[in-house]
Amino acid sequence: MFKRITIIGLGLIGGSLGLSIKRHRFAREVVGVSRRRKTLTRALKIGAVDRVTLNSTEGIKDADLIILATPILKIIDIFKRIKENLKEGCIVIDVGSTKNFVSRKIEKEIPECVSYVGCHPMAGSEKKGIDFARSDLFKGNYCILTRTRDTQREALLKIRKFWEGLGMKVVIISPEKHDRIISSLSHLPHAVSVALINSLNNLELKLSSGGLRDTTRIAASDPELWRDIFLTNRKNILREIGNFEKSLKILKNLLKKSDKAGLFKFFHRAKVIRETISV
Ligand code: NAP
Repeated sequence: MFKRITIIGLGLIGGSLGLSIKRHRFAREVVGVSRRRKTLTRALKIGAVDRVTLNSTEGIKDADLIILATPILKIIDIFKRIKENLKEGCIVIDVGSTKNFVSRKIEKEIPECVSYVGCHPMAGSEKKGIDFARSDLFKGNYCILTRTRDTQREALLKIRKFWEGLGMKVVIISPEKHDRIISSLSHLPHAVSVALINSLNNLELKLSSGGLRDTTRIAASDPELWRDIFLTNRKNILREIGNFEKSLKILKNLLKKSDKAGLFKFFHRAKVIRETISV
């Protein structure tokens, strides 16, 4: 599919992409760029890449596809650093969890002879780093691609084929719609999870049960990654937190009034909705 693919950022997502690309033989050569030498050594050892470098300009030389897989604000910094040295006709994609901020910044500065497609593979976990990379991470999950007025059709189709080839189901929407939808499906759950953990004291945490563990698994995620997500999708997340506050207030009032029927109805409604979500 590509002669040379360069992945910048070899963590959970970048490392898993390397393993998956190599397994599907989607490139003759996969080059890996990361910040720490330790990550590069590990990426080579597990076979996620063929060649490594700490230098992003050197890493993108002659690459037909460049995948930006670092925390979101770093994606922009790195793109600014490499944009002058991109090969004519290459495609740049990013896998950042918010899309409007990143695609606006990149599209504003991208050279004319290069295409860009924003991507968000809906796969991953609270784990961080190359040690958790898996070649089957993407299989069977959705990947959202974003399209704007500047998106080139051919590049979009090629990237669609790329993700489908890795076993993903592709959906194409605007970056604005992506950020709106994901703020309720992913960013609000994270806000609730971290706020819940931060509201408890040490003794309560020590005696914690399965319920707390189930509701707060994602609070153990990487703080830099989530700081960038919240800062680049602020408005949508603030709106979702407002909706959540309203829901919590309804529950609080039912409890204040000891409203037996109301509480049952509130819990029952949640149970019915939750049961429509698979697993
Ligand atoms: P991660 O496991 O923490 O990996 C991030 C990688 O970026 C690390 O390997 C790190 O390198 C590298 N990096 C950081 N700064 C760098 C720099 N200046 N130059 C080169 N490399 C740099 O994070 P992740 O979960 O893979 O997330 C990566 C991106 O995917 C994020 O934008 C995130 O929003 C998005 N995403 C995450 C998930 C998820 O569930 N985790 C799902 C979908 C999308 P070193 O290891 O060398 O320090």
